[in-house]
Amino acid sequence: MSFKSLGLSAELLRAIADQGYSKPTPIQRQAIPVILERKDVLGGAQTGTGKTAGFALPLLQLLSKSSGSKVKNSIRALILTPTRELAAQVEESVAAYGKYLPLKSAVIFGGVKINPQIEKLRRGVDILVATPGRLLDHVQQRTLDLSQVEILVLDEADRMLDMGFIHDIRRILTLLPRRRQNLLFFATFSNDIERLAENLLNSPVLIEAASRNSASETIEQLVHPVDRTRKRELLTFLIGSNNWRKVLVFTRTKHGANKLTKQLEHDGISAAAIHGNKSQATRTRTLAGFKKGEVRVLVATDIAARGLDIEHLPHVVNFELPGVSEDYVHRIGRTGRAECEGIAISLVCIDERDQLREIERVLKREIPKEVIEGYEPDPSIKAEPIPHGRNNSNQRRGGDAAHGNSRNDVNSARHATRREYGARKERPQGGSEEAVARRAQNIPRKQSVKGQWSPGGRAMSKGERPSDR
Ligand code: AMP
Repeated sequence: MSFKSLGLSAELLRAIADQGYSKPTPIQRQAIPVILERKDVLGGAQTGTGKTAGFALPLLQLLSKSSGSKVKNSIRALILTPTRELAAQVEESVAAYGKYLPLKSAVIFGGVKINPQIEKLRRGVDILVATPGRLLDHVQQRTLDLSQVEILVLDEADRMLDMGFIHDIRRILTLLPRRRQNLLFFATFSNDIERLAENLLNSPVLIEAASRNSASETIEQLVHPVDRTRKRELLTFLIGSNNWRKVLVFTRTKHGANKLTKQLEHDGISAAAIHGNKSQATRTRTLAGFKKGEVRVLVATDIAARGLDIEHLPHVVNFELPGVSEDYVHRIGRTGRAECEGIAISLVCIDERDQLREIERVLKREIPKEVIEGYEPDPSIKAEPIPHGRNNSNQRRGGDAAHGNSRNDVNSARHATRREYGARKERPQGGSEEAVARRAQNIPRKQSVKGQWSPGGRAMSKGERPSDR
């Protein structure tokens, strides 16, 4: 099947050709015709499946077929994403696909100055990609009018709910016109998504991205058992003795990240921390320095790392295991991307035994253990409870999440899709390794929708959920 047979216009086909896409991905084959028919969609698709083009291409086509209203500061399509990084990525795609069309797109998110965004909105925007908080700021300041929205897209809606955006979303919905097309995408179906879909969608067509045979299972995983007080020493030893030049290290807390960074610097290893307490400008600068190799170790918290897109990252170290097993999958997915070999090492002390067990349960396999000579755990040391505040799930809702941080996950998935569907050039951005790693390892997350819906979809009756199929 070709893009042409999906009924896309010449301008879009030209932009698609520029991207180097030779054929549509499964989600695109399913979504594009349905969206072009102006139907609501409930789409189960992870980032990395070609989902963005799946909704952006038909959205651009629909908008280009008619002219918008002249209401000041109004927009015609609203794409909501959970994080700034994802928002930026999606807008970049929309701009690329729409480059031969007379439609204007823009992205707005928090953590940066609002004035340039106001200026942009004033000059006229057709398609707006936004994170919920900053969007509402604009509405409040009357620099944005949502009353003319024709198409609403909720991208990664499950993540938005996880991040506590439901109230913002509800508020935004009240500001939209009643008559509009709604597209709701999620990676994992849940009761919350079901409720949202029930409220939002009119006879939606269910579509599901077929699972890709990801070849990116190039991540080697290893656990080094070690005493809690000797982790930092072991980390320095591993970095030094193996001459690792680019290492991403995860800690559970922002405080832990700062402390470890200082200790590594003290050990003579250049390091920088990245977490939600750092300003966006600092984070951008730190990340750029790490990518360029100016800093050898980047110490990150889970939430801060969600937006990280680092090419050729050979080493990921879990200095502490994450409180949430799914974060483990996400963390290790930072490496082993784009067919590069990667190794994910976890330094695990006795306190983390249960977490390790839980991770292995989720992975459905044991992670090989290797005790490093000289760092053998002392069997007389007893397990201690992990302080509550160290659990990162707390940060997710309050701390970093509020910064709308996480282009989660997008990248290795993106690269893999591009490889599989024959795109010529690689873009340097992206995210959802979580998705890729999960798929690659066949790890279900909460309730996977895979296999529950008939591909191609059909209209969903009220009250029905994918698992009813
Ligand atoms: P997404 O799931 O939207 O994040 O897209 C994943 C990656 O696949 C992005 O880098 C896209 O540029 C790329 N992509 C999307 N559609 C296609 C296609 N039909 N052929 C090749 N690559 C694609």
